[in-house]
Amino acid sequence: MATDNIPNATAKRLPIYYRYLNILADSGKKRVSSTELAEAVKVDSATIRRDFSYFGALGKRGYGYEVEILINFFKKILNQDKLTNVALIGVGNLGHALLNFNFHKANNVRISAAFDINEEITGTIQSGVPIYPMADMKEQLTIQQIEIVILTVPSPVAQKVTDEIMETGVKGILNFTPLRISVPDTVRVQNVDLTNELQTLIYFLDHFGTKDDEE
Ligand code: ATP
Repeated sequence: MATDNIPNATAKRLPIYYRYLNILADSGKKRVSSTELAEAVKVDSATIRRDFSYFGALGKRGYGYEVEILINFFKKILNQDKLTNVALIGVGNLGHALLNFNFHKANNVRISAAFDINEEITGTIQSGVPIYPMADMKEQLTIQQIEIVILTVPSPVAQKVTDEIMETGVKGILNFTPLRISVPDTVRVQNVDLTNELQTLIYFLDHFGTKDDEE
């Protein structure tokens, strides 16, 4: 199955489909059409059909898709059948919020270790997650075979911390710092710049308004 080559945009929609398909399954629904799915997840049906086509013929024309087959399929692709341990580095305001949140709703992901330089919090357990000193980071990431790290340190130290992470088996970084960190080609970075997102929203509202404004 050529799931390595699916477009980024498709990959980003997979969790949305997955979540909704589970809701359908819970309500006892066995089959869904791309039109119904489109309505629910706010993605047009042609896009949905194209997205699904990357994974081979999953549905039949005029019949729709079998909910259970799709769920099992996405479960494998999204690695939902295995628990993913994630580490968080930098337990400041944002890091704290993410620790508290700890992805409760997605039971396949959890933060299993956190790291910080602040000695007032290292050695404590917050929201059920142990906070280790930075000196233990490489060892813990390796022992716990952690492949994904959430980065919530101040931006001036983000690259230095990243370089240190690169000496472990980490393959992906969810980067909440505004710094565009450099990593080898073998590592993937997903940037989440909340300030930037908010400013983009303000920009769009200022320049284009809302749909209601147009009417
Ligand atoms: P936030 O930006 O998350 O709202 P904050 O304003 O509370 O955080 P920051 O100064 O941004 O605090 O630091 C975030 C966290 O990163 C703090 O807990 C701080 O102790 C920690 N930190 C600072 N430098 C490092 C470092 N070199 N390695 C690991 N953690 C660090």
